[in-house]
Amino acid sequence: MDVICDSPRHNIRAARRGKSEWLVAALRCYELGLELRDAPSPEPTPRLSDDPTRAVLAEVLATAVCHSTNWDRLRDVIRRAAADPERFNAARLATLDVGAFREEFGAGFAPAESLLARHRVFTETASLMGTRRVLDVASLVERPVRLGGRAGLYDRLRAIPAFARDPEAKKARILVQELCRTRLIAPTDPEHVRPAIEYHLIRLYLRTQRVTPVRMADDSRLLAATTFRAPVIMRIRRAVEEAMYFTASAAEMPICDLNHIEWQIARSFCERHGPRCDGPPQPSKPCDSTVLALAVDLRCPFADVCGVASNSRLAGMVEPQLSRKYDFY
Ligand code: SF4
Repeated sequence: MDVICDSPRHNIRAARRGKSEWLVAALRCYELGLELRDAPSPEPTPRLSDDPTRAVLAEVLATAVCHSTNWDRLRDVIRRAAADPERFNAARLATLDVGAFREEFGAGFAPAESLLARHRVFTETASLMGTRRVLDVASLVERPVRLGGRAGLYDRLRAIPAFARDPEAKKARILVQELCRTRLIAPTDPEHVRPAIEYHLIRLYLRTQRVTPVRMADDSRLLAATTFRAPVIMRIRRAVEEAMYFTASAAEMPICDLNHIEWQIARSFCERHGPRCDGPPQPSKPCDSTVLALAVDLRCPFADVCGVASNSRLAGMVEPQLSRKYDFY
């Protein structure tokens, strides 16, 4: 399988074959974007520490190991650890052995996990932030920071393997957005904030038909958890990214806000094992006041335009699975 889905622009191939998927996808982006147009701006995300320098370190370390785990649980554990300035510093954290890492941070991950790989990423990142000072936190905190271009923040994060391994730089994108939402950085070029596309968002964009499989066979494969090759998943992420730009344009909303709002809708309403179109949102995955303001009668904010009501097959769509060897993406 070489192509499984295309966004409005990428789908030009399908359009040349006389299909109209790209028009449908573009229209869906527009319709769903309109639903969000009057959304209140999200409140700033609470920082992981009252001390700005420690808060940046906490964001960097949390994001470095955030793959395939519960985001809120991990952040709670890191927030508690970051309350202790004697223990939560990069030089000390870089020297934690596996046992100490499990003791201090293990509650942030699934109980059965070995934590060996997470420990390696965590201590390597702490080492680069501390002793080797690859990223100078003091130069970031509450100061104007350029995101794009050579020596911009995205470029500088490439020096840290946790943020450089993924060809789509998902973790770097998550980190930059979190630093913006917590107001820990003040970007001079906020238009360069890039979408962070993870599995919840892929599922949401598939179900809302903003990204659609070109071939029927691929459509069927998305009705069950199916592992796809990494390059295919990267193409899907790029398609979702492009559709998010279209949606943000219709919503008249910055990418950083839209990304956060749609991620919450995806994980709390549009759950993998059955969407909660009529609500309420999943209690264990709380939504912020912006999403709740959009959720009339606690229904999904997209419930009136989604299309699932007239096409129940969409409700069964799930995000394509990535091989475990790439799950750090
Ligand atoms: S209406 Fe249902 S299927 Fe559509 S986005 Fe919301 S939860 Fe998902």
